[in-house]
Amino acid sequence: MLVDSHSHFDAPEFDADRHEALVRARAAGVTRQVVPAVTASSWSKLREVCANDAGLFPAYGLHPMYLADHRPAHLDDLRGWVERERPVAIGECGLDFFVDGLDASEQQRYFDGQLQLAREFDLPLIVHARRAVDAVIASVKRIGHLRGVVHSFSGSAEQARQLWQLGFLIGLGGPVTYERAHRLRTLASTMPLDFLLLETDAPDQPDAGIRGQRNEPSRLVVVGDVIAKLRGGSPEEIAAATTRNAERLFNLPAN
Ligand code: ZN
Repeated sequence: MLVDSHSHFDAPEFDADRHEALVRARAAGVTRQVVPAVTASSWSKLREVCANDAGLFPAYGLHPMYLADHRPAHLDDLRGWVERERPVAIGECGLDFFVDGLDASEQQRYFDGQLQLAREFDLPLIVHARRAVDAVIASVKRIGHLRGVVHSFSGSAEQARQLWQLGFLIGLGGPVTYERAHRLRTLASTMPLDFLLLETDAPDQPDAGIRGQRNEPSRLVVVGDVIAKLRGGSPEEIAAATTRNAERLFNLPAN
């Protein structure tokens, strides 16, 4: 049994066949998904999608790539949602210094607001960090007493170590299945399993076997298989460790 620690299963890309995709995921052994939000206007649909299946767990937050949609009042709204809905995490939040036109200080304001909420409500964070891992580490240190996952990790081994020391796991998905991803594959093959989560980031970040196509949670099996092969271990070992890690971080009920 696998946990997809990061899927955007509420995305419009799944509107036409969400049920079928869920059946395929379950048949593949992906019985649970953590589904992070992107904008305040998406929270209601996310809640509705997750209410339809006991294996779907929403997280609420404000994604840095959607900065133009965010308003300061959304942080207050988020507090209300967290208080009322008791999600498994706050996110997707973070910093993106790769995409042009996303004001860094504005991103930081929303990120800090969500870090504060996570600390206040004692919830884990689902963090997006693109070309911004050091800034994320500095932010996490500044607020303190936080835990979470840096999803689709793409930093160095040293940055990964710093995150583990701060109580953060790293999420690996489709990118690790590409042979040219040398740094990521070295990290996947040498890192302690206690700090690893598997993710698809569906519908984005397809693995090498479905390059250019829509990704979906059933493909998590491919990610697990590739990491097992890189480590010379078994897929069962990877599944057991990453499921345990996800259950612990997100305090998921048994399935
Ligand atoms: Zn995401």
